[in-house]
Parts: sequence; C-alpha cells; structure tokens
Amino acid sequence: MRPLVLLAALALAFPLAVPAPARGPAVVVLDPGHDLRANPRTEPIGPGSSTRKVLDGGGTRGVATGVPEAELDLAVALRLRALLERAGVRVLMTRTRTAGTSIGNVARARIANQAHAELFLRIHADGSPDRRAAGTHTLYPAFRAGWTDDVYASSRRAAAIVQRELVRALGFPDRGLQERADYTGFNWSDVPVILVELGFMTNPAEDRALATARYRQRAALGLCRGTLRFLGRDPGAC
Ligand SMILES: [Zn+2]
Repeated sequence: MRPLVLLAALALAFPLAVPAPARGPAVVVLDPGHDLRANPRTEPIGPGSSTRKVLDGGGTRGVATGVPEAELDLAVALRLRALLERAGVRVLMTRTRTAGTSIGNVARARIANQAHAELFLRIHADGSPDRRAAGTHTLYPAFRAGWTDDVYASSRRAAAIVQRELVRALGFPDRGLQERADYTGFNWSDVPVILVELGFMTNPAEDRALATARYRQRAALGLCRGTLRFLGRDPGAC
C-alpha cells in the first residue's frame, strides 16, 4: 500500500492512537472497572514513582446476586454510551467486553490521554466487609504538582456535578466526594478524571437493585446528566 493509504488504514484500525482534533465534538472516555480476570503485575502509581501497585485486584461481587463487579460496571457503561452518543458526544471505551485479563490503570489512563478526553469517567461499585455499608460516592485525584495539578480543579468540579446527578437518579445514600492520592489511574491522567462508586455490592439491597435493568438505566441517566452538565451542555438531551 502507498504510505497515505497505509496511514488511513491504520487510523481506521487503531482510532485510539490518532490524536483528536483540537476542535470538534466532545470526547468522553468511559472506563468500566476491572475485567474477567485480575492482573497481579505491578505498575508505578504515578509517572516516575518508585511506589508500585497491582494492575488490578479484581473488584467486588454481589453478595446476594453473585454478579461480578466487572459485569455491572460494563453494563452501566454500555447504557451510558448509548445515551451520550444520542446526545452528540463521541464516546470511547477502555473495554467493551468482560473477557480477558485487566489491562491495568496506566493503560486505561493512556487511552483517555491519547483521546484528549474532556472527561475520563471510571465506573465502579463498592465492597465492604460490613453488609450495612451503603450509598454512592465519587472519587477524584488529590492535588500533586507534576501529576495532577493540571486536572485537579476540573476533576473536582466534575466529581461534584456527577455525584449530585447520580445520587438523584439512584436514590442511594449520598456518601459525598473523596480525594485520592493513591489511585494509579488518576495520577497518570492528563485529562479531567473521576471514579464513581455506584453503590455497595456487599449490601444486599443495593446489590439486588443494581442487578436490575431499571437501576442500571437510572445509573446511566444520572451519569449522562452529570457528564453533560460538566461539559456545559443541556442535561435534558440524555
Ligand atoms: Zn471496582
């Protein structure tokens, strides 16, 4: 193939590797947590760090339903993708199946960075040894010069907006926001990044609710409204 044709073919085959144009439709990267298998390898928790963490400890599981967290995270992300695309947002996903070994958090952040995402939205559900623990919360990166200084304020703003809409949509207790300095996927991100914990899969009531299509759609709607608000768009488009 001629070089130009080859380049075009490569761009079609590997759209994530092509930088997004400076102007154009908003790009949001959705990151459903985990995958079929955990990944015990380690990676630095931030650029140049000597502190390392496992790529993926594997996530939690529904105490009443047995649903693995990876499946719930993906189900909500796929519903959210449909809503955002209908609203005119370009959506990229870090995974679209639950079928392999988790790629880890540096790789997930790089996908968002290469896409120049306006929001890197990570979707998880919580677990606790205490079955009474319940509610929704949203995490965002702590401030650290050289790592998160460029995305701290925007991430915190996104977290507040998305948390409000998610709590409104799901009706679970509001556990508020939490800053985290130890999340690899935050420290490697060059774009605004948040991680939502939809609810507790170790709480029987929240687990059963999150296993239903109705609550998964509610979660997706709340996340869509929050995302559009953060992007300065009309949340009614969700
Ligand atoms: Zn998780």
